[in-house]
Amino acid sequence: MAEYILALDQGTTSSRAILFDHDGRIVGKEQQEFPQIYPQPGHVEHRPEDIWNSQFDVALNVLKRSRIPAEKIAAIGITNQRETTILWEKETGKPVGNAIVWQSRISSGICQRLENAGYEQRIRELTGLVIDPYFSGTKLTWLFEQSPDLRRRAQNGEILFGTVDSYLVWKLTGGKRHITDISNASRTMLFDIHQQKWSPELLEMLGIPEQILPEVVDSSGVVAQTDPALFGRAIPISGIAGDQQAATFGQICFEPGMAKNTYGTGCFMLMNIGSQPRLSNNGLLTTIGWRIGSEIVYCLEGAIFIAGAAIQWLRDGLQVIAHASETEELAASVPDTDGVYFVPAFVGLGAPYWDAEARGLAIGLTRGTTREHFVRAALESIAYQTRDVLDAMNRDSGIRLERLRVDGGATSNNFLMQFQADILQTEVYRPVIQETTALGAAYLAGLGVGFWNDQNELSHKWALDQAFRPACSVDQSEKKYAGWRRAVERSLQWEQS
Ligand code: ADP
Repeated sequence: MAEYILALDQGTTSSRAILFDHDGRIVGKEQQEFPQIYPQPGHVEHRPEDIWNSQFDVALNVLKRSRIPAEKIAAIGITNQRETTILWEKETGKPVGNAIVWQSRISSGICQRLENAGYEQRIRELTGLVIDPYFSGTKLTWLFEQSPDLRRRAQNGEILFGTVDSYLVWKLTGGKRHITDISNASRTMLFDIHQQKWSPELLEMLGIPEQILPEVVDSSGVVAQTDPALFGRAIPISGIAGDQQAATFGQICFEPGMAKNTYGTGCFMLMNIGSQPRLSNNGLLTTIGWRIGSEIVYCLEGAIFIAGAAIQWLRDGLQVIAHASETEELAASVPDTDGVYFVPAFVGLGAPYWDAEARGLAIGLTRGTTREHFVRAALESIAYQTRDVLDAMNRDSGIRLERLRVDGGATSNNFLMQFQADILQTEVYRPVIQETTALGAAYLAGLGVGFWNDQNELSHKWALDQAFRPACSVDQSEKKYAGWRRAVERSLQWEQS
């Protein structure tokens, strides 16, 4: 009798494997970091072999350490760092180079060219995305422009492309399946989110041979079986979604208007907007959440590049703290920041500003400014950026969000969560299970094999750890937020290209 779902969570800095039981509880967890490669400033790469080896290792280890044989695994769910781009040889499975990681700005010149050519509006209409090196499409253009030989081989059908989900499925099936789920496809900038098909127009615009593309599949349902040599028996792969979409599913945001925000290195807020792909007028992305059978769910997404990373910078760059967890007490030891604002625009600003030339600033400093004020301003910046995105979402959707579900490493900070509720004037709900990304992949996989019956059954599993309710007045909140907006104004367009 199969009793567990194995979720593979292939993240940017580490690979995790988590076993969930029928109640959605974690019964085993393994994690392994792998090397980050920075060939030049702004370029980030991973070795595909490291991605695979670390992911397969943790999968084997979690089974071994939990003493759970492969026979007890009902299905595998996969969730992954999105947009990261891998090319490999069809014949040998050998990668043709390193994976170009989502953070890489390697294709910024190509993006500039597309903008200059006036493609912005058309790309938005088709994909719901803005032109940015973040997405896979221009990374591929860059690779093919580097090597005419690679292009020739790709045109001959010798080369395959995939995001990380696609590469993992290829490896897990011993090269039998070349697929990607629709949520990952929607992040490539090559996918028509209305037609739910690869777009010939975009492929031509970006100069990409269509022979390299994977088949697009649902996010839930059996799409492959693992090579029996790997786990001693074939296990169905029945759930795949990009990490943020999986977290949205894991947070049970099943109804239009429900939203979650993940507080990790960056912040990613996604709101379920139902079965119609509405485009944003306020700097958000429209993306595919998941598709199950013929039922598709679209989301609005606000991507903030620097959130928890600002706290890492306090630790490693400024060296004013030793551990991220110290920030809670330091921030709470002062009544406010004494007028200090910190805008962590280290790599420009994402949603809703999309200003690659913005840079970080601290303003409002006086002789009275202390370390505590500064640390507090850094935490507050995470909440303010989230407010920027939530306001945009409220405007786009016409829905005023009453409750925000949260997850990610920085949500353990109670000061931050309370300040967030104050600044949003919205309730902030933190669930018991923080591994919502892996949980979402497990839910998709479990639904795909009938381990769970339907989404309604899953809805009952969401359990609250703590709710944070607005505790300051609207006036106070608005006054503070107005200061943030003034500070952001001053950070924009700083770097002159
Ligand atoms: P990721 O998956 O992006 O690596 P995690 O969800 O593991 O991120 O969260 C780690 C991030 O959260 C780090 O950037 C770290 O600085 C931040 N963080 C962790 N604990 C706290 C805390 N108590 N207060 C504020 N930030 C924190």
